[in-house]
Amino acid sequence: MSYQCHNCGAVFEEPYAASDRHGFTYGPCEEYDVCPSCRVAGMFSEIEEDGEVEDEELLETA
Ligand SMILES: [Zn+2]
Repeated sequence: MSYQCHNCGAVFEEPYAASDRHGFTYGPCEEYDVCPSCRVAGMFSEIEEDGEVEDEELLETA
């Protein structure tokens, strides 16, 4: 499974987990998935790639 950003066109395997502390150094912070390239959230979609999952399973048992 891959993702492609609609904002900058970058393709990546996992979104970057950004945290928003609203300027505070402690307390609850929000984490959300963003594009690792342009750090824009909610602008990417999943890319289905046939056979990719099966290939990963083979690598895990090797
Ligand atoms: Zn991007």
